Amino acid sequence: MNILTFDIEEWFHILDNDSTKTEKEWSNYEYRLDANMDRIFELLDRKNQKATFFCLGWVAREFPHILKKIDAMGFEIATHSDRHQLAYEQTKDEFKNDLESSINSIEDVIGKKVSIYRAPGFSIKEENKWVFEELVKQGIEIDCSIFPAKRTHGGFESYGHAEPSILNIGDVSLKEFPINLFEMANKNLIFSGGGYFRIFPYWMIKSMMNRSDYVMTYFHPRDFDPDQPMIENLSAARRFKSYVGLGTAFTKLERLITDFDFMDVSQADNIIEWEKQKIITL
Ligand SMILES: [Zn+2]
Repeated sequence: MNILTFDIEEWFHILDNDSTKTEKEWSNYEYRLDANMDRIFELLDRKNQKATFFCLGWVAREFPHILKKIDAMGFEIATHSDRHQLAYEQTKDEFKNDLESSINSIEDVIGKKVSIYRAPGFSIKEENKWVFEELVKQGIEIDCSIFPAKRTHGGFESYGHAEPSILNIGDVSLKEFPINLFEMANKNLIFSGGGYFRIFPYWMIKSMMNRSDYVMTYFHPRDFDPDQPMIENLSAARRFKSYVGLGTAFTKLERLITDFDFMDVSQADNIIEWEKQKIITL
């Protein structure tokens, strides 16, 4: 099962830096999302592939036409928070308000209920696992935020499972689609999105895809935009992760969705026999 997903945010929504943290700074930057989305729409249409788009509430307000187009093309829309803040840096109230605003903004544009979520930067970890209870309170039924490995920000290594599972916490439960891991030489590799996808050569990605039963991809419009400006004052590590491989990533995506069949999150949800999946209690 290969699931295709995109996190719909602008090129400047890069985490781990202070110069692009809030909406006030974003107004200083050019918008590149229209052109970057057109490239993705054209490709998916040409290859006839399904995908889920995790959109920021901010995107729904600034670019309502993009959400309308995603919806009109028959793609699924989910939420990626409102203003792309790391969930573990938010208080419960801040998280609650941000999520509410995101869901309202998206539902206002497409007139459909939002029930699928992914945290910015996979920022749910042991310390802020209360987030899951708030998600359920606000009508989220499927979460795609677990990154079951170590990570600069976020990462929930102790979740211990890199396949669709039932997540129980307190009195509530939801369906979890974590990022998949690929075990090689006793190391768990990630290859299905972001900087990882841009770094690995395609033949290696293809080989790992062929040997994986479950793949959850996560791409961003900026992953395929080699002409985007570079944010200044990023740490060396962040700069590498954010800008490596931009020039070849689109060709790799094209090859990936030519060589493999993908589905969106709801299609995956429908074919999974949930009663046979692992139950994880946090
Ligand atoms: Zn994001």
